[in-house]
Amino acid sequence: MIITEYVEGVRDNVRKARLSDRKIILIPTMGALHDGHLSMARLAKEGEEDVYIVMSIFVNPLQFGAGEDFAAYPRDLHRDAEMARREDVDLLFVPSAEEMYSPDSQTTVQVARLSQGLCGASRPGHFAGVATVVAKLLNIVQPDEAFFGQKDYQQFAVLRRMAEDLKLPVKLRLAPIVREPSGLALSSRNAYLSWEEKKDAAQIYAALLAAAERIREGERDAQAVAEFLRRFIETHAHGRVEYAEVRQKNDLQPVEAITKPVVLLVAVFVGRTRLIDNLIVEV
Ligand code: AMP
Repeated sequence: MIITEYVEGVRDNVRKARLSDRKIILIPTMGALHDGHLSMARLAKEGEEDVYIVMSIFVNPLQFGAGEDFAAYPRDLHRDAEMARREDVDLLFVPSAEEMYSPDSQTTVQVARLSQGLCGASRPGHFAGVATVVAKLLNIVQPDEAFFGQKDYQQFAVLRRMAEDLKLPVKLRLAPIVREPSGLALSSRNAYLSWEEKKDAAQIYAALLAAAERIREGERDAQAVAEFLRRFIETHAHGRVEYAEVRQKNDLQPVEAITKPVVLLVAVFVGRTRLIDNLIVEV
């Protein structure tokens, strides 16, 4: 595995990989790698002979708001590099903030409507930060495919819209959520949780499953399902619910009557840690 901090280093290595006809895959991350990240490398290799996997690790300052955990975000490049190497990642791109953003930089990417609501409501500018950095990474690597996790479902919707709007020649792929045996979705931020909080946090998935069960039993009132979800989390996870919503699966539009596939989405503070999760329900 090659590790580079430089855009030129990425371009040189990807060019060579392309000459030997390998399919170029990009997996963007912020590091503190876990099985959710690594599952995407495995997924990329499934049924493919010749893939060239580029993983990026960059804690993107542009997507953190004031008072968020940019400084505290877990960073351990040594451990991450070892995990990526074991997963047969070919190229690890670990740029500095200066390499990604020149001091004169003036360009950002805004995906207007999809960036509003849900996580966008409490994190203004977050999705512009995400879209901007992912647009840069896609331009640097120029992959055939880029992988993102369902864990950040709104993020995927935003990035898919961006790729379509900007006619980016890349296929975006969505990877299923990897969970702990307790049901807790893996996240780098789980490192902030105490043992007690982890037990509480596992109830978030229980709440999503219980709400999905209500829909399967015939509940069609989205508002009632959202209320159920909120109350379940408040009672069982002892969390402060930032949002608990039912949206259309395809375009994240609000729903009144559930007649088509939906996605249940939540953001919850367990202690001081903000966690997100979601579940797709086909009807
Ligand atoms: P992050 O490092 O948290 O920015 O995440 C990098 C990528 O990994 C994003 O596309 C996430 O959606 C994805 N990811 C994070 N957690 C999980 C998980 N538990 N299962 C699947 N993908 C995940």
